[in-house]
Amino acid sequence: MLDVAYAWDRLAMPRSLRHFEAKWADRANPHSFSGVWRFHELLPFAPREQCVTVGEGQTLLHPSEGVGKYVGLRPGRLYLQYEGMNPSGSFKDNGMSAAFTHARMTGATRAACASTGNTSASLALYCSVTRLMKAVIFVGSGKIAYGKLSQALDFGALTVQIAGDFDDAMARVQEVSRQLGIYLVNSVNPFRLEGQKTIMYRVLEGLRWEVPDWIVVPGGNLGNSSAFGKAFRELHELGLIPRVPRLAVINAAGANTLYRLVEQEGLRWNHGAPSESLIRKFYDDMNAEKRRAKTIASAIEINRPVNLQKCLRALEVCNGVVREVSDQDILDAKAQVGAGGLGCEPASAASVAGARLLVSEGVIGRDDRVVCVLTGHQLKDPDATVAYHTTDQELFNKVLGSRGVRRAAFANRAVAVSNNLDEIVKAIHLYG
Ligand SMILES: *Cc1c(COP(=O)(O)O)cnc(C)c1O
Repeated sequence: MLDVAYAWDRLAMPRSLRHFEAKWADRANPHSFSGVWRFHELLPFAPREQCVTVGEGQTLLHPSEGVGKYVGLRPGRLYLQYEGMNPSGSFKDNGMSAAFTHARMTGATRAACASTGNTSASLALYCSVTRLMKAVIFVGSGKIAYGKLSQALDFGALTVQIAGDFDDAMARVQEVSRQLGIYLVNSVNPFRLEGQKTIMYRVLEGLRWEVPDWIVVPGGNLGNSSAFGKAFRELHELGLIPRVPRLAVINAAGANTLYRLVEQEGLRWNHGAPSESLIRKFYDDMNAEKRRAKTIASAIEINRPVNLQKCLRALEVCNGVVREVSDQDILDAKAQVGAGGLGCEPASAASVAGARLLVSEGVIGRDDRVVCVLTGHQLKDPDATVAYHTTDQELFNKVLGSRGVRRAAFANRAVAVSNNLDEIVKAIHLYG
């Protein structure tokens, strides 16, 4: 694993974070408009004029009364950082703009990734908009939500469907990239994480540069959580924030490597030397038992998170905790988010389900200021949403029942009416 480190003492640094707000006045300039490059001084690995942007990071921090109530917080304490508003519909664009910039600096002509869907959608979008590189994406067979696959295909990426799951595709793309000299943009790529730091800068900006008590984020490959920890550690060391928030990383119960290693096995960062034997034994057991990741939240259906070590560091820096939530809890939380009007894909709702769990445990206080990151847009995975709200029991069983989901507590069912004016009017009176 490589890590990006800066010689901060040799770089010009603004005295206060308010400096970045001032860039709004200059938003006709694409680098000031970008929600990533607006913070260039905090990720200064490339000259500003070389930074690639497609207008990523125009995302907002929304207070949500409804979701806050569901989570169990007092009014005004819950915020949703809505990363679904990125050009390709997920937070991945934050990291892609940075990795893509570095790829261009190296003179790459092709870039590749293995993906549960959103990284490939993002890479494909950057390639098609900028025409700087060709995209090669690896997906597991039958493991990608249609919203995401449709983007990769539409944007013209070479799409290689491997007979296997994400962990298989991940292993192969690393071999292929090495052999063919293709630039790899998976979150093993440290520049991705540089771009993803800016999600937290925008959260702080949304809170008028105040530090929240908790950041809650779903954990898949653990790039986001790692990036968030790095962002806060650097800001704190630079004296730009007075304290760091606590971090909660939420696994799906069907893909809970981090949860088990940290909360059950006691794995820690340990000054940069986490117990390798503990990790090795965990994966050996996983292989022996042929355990495969399985969750409706396909974006976090990952059993071998590549950023495990960096995430341990983030948990250390932010006094973090890890929890697991069931697919049932994820979908109920997702319905609550949707009812609040933003809408997210299943993986994103793990953050809300996790926050609710932590409030019920008393780990998060009811008065704490909590930010849940909504990582991807609702339209990424319409199948899961429709199956949740459906009256068609067969569809429900096929998509959700097979994942152990038994009920849809917050289903908003369509009302079937014959094609008859009186019947329609009657139905509206009855249900409206
Ligand atoms: C990639 C992704 C995740 C997982 O993020 P990691 O950085 O891999 O932990 C969660 N939600 C969505 C929507 C994603 O696309």
